[in-house]
Amino acid sequence: MSEVQEFDAIIVGAGFAGVHQLIQFRKLGLKVRLLEAGGGLGGTWYWNTYPGARVDSENPIYQFSDPELYKDWNYTEKFPGWREIQQYFEYVDKKLDLSRDVSYNSRVVSAVWDDTTDRWTLTTEAGDVYRVQWLSLCTGIGSKYYIPPYKGLDSFKGEVHHTSRWPTDYDLKGKKVGVIGTGSTGVQFIQEIAPVVEHLTVFQRTPNLSLPMKQTKLDLEEQKKLKEYLYPIQFGRRNQTFSGYLHDLDMKPTLEATLEERVLNYEDKWEKGGFHFWIGSYGDIFFKQDANDVAYAFWRDKTRARINDPEMKDKLAPMKSPHPFGVKRPSLEQVYNQPNVALVDVNKTPIAEITPDGIKTSDGIEHKLDVLVFATGFDMVTGGITSIDIRGQDGVPIKEKWVNGVRSYLGLGSATYPNMFWIYGPQSPAAFSNGPSTIFTSEWIADCIKHCRENKISHIVPSKEAQDAWSEQLQQIASMGLWMGAKHSWYMGSNIEGKKVEILQFPGGVPAYYKAISDSVAKGYEGWTLKQATA
Ligand SMILES: Cc1cc2nc3c(=O)[nH]c(=O)nc-3n(C[C@H](O)[C@H](O)[C@H](O)COP(=O)(O)OP(=O)(O)OC[C@H]3O[C@@H](n4cnc5c(N)ncnc54)[C@H](O)[C@@H]3O)c2cc1C
Repeated sequence: MSEVQEFDAIIVGAGFAGVHQLIQFRKLGLKVRLLEAGGGLGGTWYWNTYPGARVDSENPIYQFSDPELYKDWNYTEKFPGWREIQQYFEYVDKKLDLSRDVSYNSRVVSAVWDDTTDRWTLTTEAGDVYRVQWLSLCTGIGSKYYIPPYKGLDSFKGEVHHTSRWPTDYDLKGKKVGVIGTGSTGVQFIQEIAPVVEHLTVFQRTPNLSLPMKQTKLDLEEQKKLKEYLYPIQFGRRNQTFSGYLHDLDMKPTLEATLEERVLNYEDKWEKGGFHFWIGSYGDIFFKQDANDVAYAFWRDKTRARINDPEMKDKLAPMKSPHPFGVKRPSLEQVYNQPNVALVDVNKTPIAEITPDGIKTSDGIEHKLDVLVFATGFDMVTGGITSIDIRGQDGVPIKEKWVNGVRSYLGLGSATYPNMFWIYGPQSPAAFSNGPSTIFTSEWIADCIKHCRENKISHIVPSKEAQDAWSEQLQQIASMGLWMGAKHSWYMGSNIEGKKVEILQFPGGVPAYYKAISDSVAKGYEGWTLKQATA
């Protein structure tokens, strides 16, 4: 075993959350180390480099809000792609000299709490050992990729790739490609590769209720002007809206709007592109089926009008909604009709097995392929945390504790795991929001540690009662909504076989979440148990 390295705090993960946490811990004067499994900064954007990988948050909100950082940075597109976001992280690294506090290629495999010393011992895959008082898990919602257990997978003679481990500059020209999955990644991927490949077969379980992106190039001079007066307002705004975007839900009930008003509103949101039609329009679509039906009908008619082939119309935008509109994250697409593309509905003809030459569906057809691509997503939201063998006060791994459902207080920490917090994880707003909008909890964590140090508190841990109440509250809000109407949804954990089906993220919106975590502090860390240091 290698020598134990002592730090005040360890951060796990170097995406937006981990980087922001590092900045906060530095400010606090902590001796800190950030451990990252990958070879660079960027998290999601370090790993997801498949053709078409691109963010769905429009400029300028997909970046840190610190003026020192945004003043010298310019994205070139309204919805930046992965290469540019990687460049952004390189820029931030250079500006703040972050890498000096980061160990790359360091995957944390275990974290064990010692209640007598109030310290965590962390071990990496390579056998490095760290002992710390504070642990911040910034492992992301999509760091454990998922490939369903298809019969015959090992027999396939061609190449197999998951989108989140895409080989750099891999050329698909002239290849017969099969893609399983039409979530956001699948949609981004197929529209990018369709013009390049010889033939593309897409295996679809659920049509993606995609929205038009309306991508544009950004003007440098214009951005400079906007930074002076608009950016500060916009960065403030993103913490005030339900989803951390600049547009907000309209609280007027859909059916109280007149037909004219509604159509004009929908058209306006549609033309704006991005998520305006989804989370910038009537908010009751998440709770009222009749309101949802109206939104779906508008989406369906718009979408069907863009598709030439009648069979494709029914597969991609059926007359009856496959699930309530908006309860799954829509993709943003830039092109719809593609030549040389076949779409297999795996509800009608499920994948029977993978053969040496392709995929055989239940109708006996063998779809011949050179390359098989899994756009099958991730063990979302919880997978990053449960992949680490985390043992708290009672020695029980968190993975076991969460078998029957996630338990957290405020989406920040869990009972029996003292001094351990997470950001942008289970039961926080996470992917119900724009990513960088919800990482303000790193400041909450830094303030909490400051409070503990100033008041000689050696550990802080959620009480079981507070955690049960928080977790129940989440499920209650969810039960009032339509999220359960989607059969296979990573929002609910139902994309993974055997995973407990429940709402995994806080569905009450960013401002309500911010209020909940602030109220706890204002009431003297209500819901947390604080242990006084003995010495
Ligand atoms: C494919 C994809 C597309 C997305 N698109 C959008 C979008 O368009 N808009 C949006 O707002 N959000 C999007 N998201 C969510 C996105 O993750 C957030 O916006 C944001 O990047 C979250 O940052 P993070 O730091 O919390 O996590 P991440 O960026 O996921 O970073 C987590 C890091 O932790 C590391 N890690 C995990 N486990 C360990 C371990 N055991 N040891 C060491 N390191 C570890 C990982 O390697 C990773 O680098 C997307 C997510 C995915 C997966």
